[in-house]
Amino acid sequence: MDHPLRRSRLAARLPDLEVEALLSTRLPNVRYLTGFTGSNGQVLVSGGDAVFFTDGRYTEQSRREVPDLRRETYMLDFPKTFGEACRELGVSRIGFEAGGVTYRFYEQLAAVEGLELVPVGDEVERLRWVKEPEEIDLVSEAQRITDEAFERLLAKLVEGISEKEAALELEWAMRQAGADGLAFDSIVAFGESAAEPHHDPSDRTLRRGDVIKVDCGALYRGYHSDMTRTVALGDPPAELAEIHGIVLSAQQAGIDAVRAGILGRDADRAARQVIEEAGHGEAFSHSLGHGVGLEIHEGPTFRSSSEDEIPAGAVVTVEPGIYLPGIGGVRIEDMVEVTTDGCRVLPSTARELVIL
Ligand code: ZN
Ligand code: ZN
Repeated sequence: MDHPLRRSRLAARLPDLEVEALLSTRLPNVRYLTGFTGSNGQVLVSGGDAVFFTDGRYTEQSRREVPDLRRETYMLDFPKTFGEACRELGVSRIGFEAGGVTYRFYEQLAAVEGLELVPVGDEVERLRWVKEPEEIDLVSEAQRITDEAFERLLAKLVEGISEKEAALELEWAMRQAGADGLAFDSIVAFGESAAEPHHDPSDRTLRRGDVIKVDCGALYRGYHSDMTRTVALGDPPAELAEIHGIVLSAQQAGIDAVRAGILGRDADRAARQVIEEAGHGEAFSHSLGHGVGLEIHEGPTFRSSSEDEIPAGAVVTVEPGIYLPGIGGVRIEDMVEVTTDGCRVLPSTARELVIL
């Protein structure tokens, strides 16, 4: 990963933001800019220089992961160390990530003498929208693991298994396939539970005729994957089989619409239209998709109000769904890599309705 290049891209934004330096405190952003993977780190990026901060637990780790930066280790007193670093760099008008500090932390920073703090928006997040080839490879590997684990799960989906047990089987399979962890808590929903877009696995056991909705992903070297499949044990209710077909068509319409330059809302519209025309508009109660990378949910977004202009190199999910309370629901989700003339679906298992 070319961290100096990323920092120079951020530094190039500083004049527009009318700040002399930017303090990044959101961990995924710190990781993106420095390579640091620990649980406490900050980085101050100025026009020509950068300083990395962490606490004593990470002195050794940061020496290894952030060898190219000046590193400051502090004990409980980040504001003081930060203030000194600003003075040494000769910067006083400092941008901070408005979405990355608590009010208490802000008050501590504001108490440092001689600094002027300026809130800035999702600057580093915006840089992260466009994935480098190495990042695409890591998301793809996370997806490969997810796919392998999902295939293994299918063999375990027999009458009587509970949602919780199935979720545990899935996690086990992910770890065996090489995951560092889960990208998020798996959603495993049987029958009427599948009517909830998000659902905590319960003790509900699997019965013949149930649909089975599984939304899961692996974490691999900091990168996430995200996939949803809806299958069935035996023939599902006719209504749900029909809905599966509609959702699949909607997903394909979304995938067909995505290309560099499209607005997030237009991608959402392309898929939503298919569901509305089938008479289920009200039952598609969430947005079409979100970026995936160092975070499971990041920009850009495919939602009805999204003005995001989608760049080539973005990795975004396309995940329409239809949910019928008391009956069940269907969602189909894949990640796509946006290209100049379309998009490439990251390889995944069959999307057609599988009846076990
Ligand atoms: Zn998902
Ligand atoms: Zn998703």
